[in-house]
Amino acid sequence: MEAFSTISGIRKWVRSARAANETVCLVPTMGYFHEGHLSLMREGRKLCDRVVVSIFVNPAQFGENEDLDAYPVDLERDKSLARAEGVDAVFVPSSDQMYPKEFQTYVELTRIPGHLCGLSRPGHFKGVATVVAKLFHIVEPDRAVFGSKDYQQLLLIRRMAEDLNFDIIIDGAPIVREEDGLAMSSRNTYLTEQERRSALSLSRSLDLAAEMIDRGEKDPGKLAREMERLILSHPGTRIDYVKPCDPETLEKVEAIRGPLLVALAVRIGRTRLIDNRIFHPER
Ligand code: AMP
Repeated sequence: MEAFSTISGIRKWVRSARAANETVCLVPTMGYFHEGHLSLMREGRKLCDRVVVSIFVNPAQFGENEDLDAYPVDLERDKSLARAEGVDAVFVPSSDQMYPKEFQTYVELTRIPGHLCGLSRPGHFKGVATVVAKLFHIVEPDRAVFGSKDYQQLLLIRRMAEDLNFDIIIDGAPIVREEDGLAMSSRNTYLTEQERRSALSLSRSLDLAAEMIDRGEKDPGKLAREMERLILSHPGTRIDYVKPCDPETLEKVEAIRGPLLVALAVRIGRTRLIDNRIFHPER
């Protein structure tokens, strides 16, 4: 596996792969790998001849009071995990390279960030769209894989790729969970033992939503209220949002009829966790 820290280095490598008629898949990450990340690399392997993984803790997507400085890093461990998955190249740029002093060009979407995480993390999706657009230009992959754990991010990247005519297929991959249901996240390492138990409330509230929808519940408000009640019965939880909504537009739905996204963000102590599930209720 090759490791590159410069834009020119990874560009040259990808261009020679493409000159040899090889297809290239990009897996953008912020590192500190868990099974969720590794599942994206495996998916990339299936889809393309070469897999490039980027590791970059993107300062532009963190708010003032967020965890940029605390974000976990272990580059050597990440590299050996990527190597074991058969990744061909990792790209680990510095912040100075990605955002030189003169930097002033951002990518911003007008509607998708007006919902869910965009409301509690102003500027977050501007940072995400900008860094992903940059990575797309730098790597010029044929495909790129994103996890549906960050459902809103996946939707936003798909929209951006289409709007800005990136000739890149965007693939979504399922959420990888711990055995007890907690969605894997690099941020799970922040949790104390007690908080880890309370963190189960996210996936459990989605299980409750599934049961209610199975039983024929049509009222999204009631669904959200019952989920909130379950979450708040766990110590140390504070709800950011619990939103049943349209999976395409993220707009509120009046009744549960067609496909439904239920997305939530919950603070557990100082850690903010997200989860979601898509339902296809019978009409
Ligand atoms: P991150 O390093 O957290 O920015 O995540 C990098 C990529 O991994 C994103 O496309 C995430 O959606 C994806 N990802 C993170 N956690 C999971 C998970 N539990 N299951 C599947 N994909 C994930």
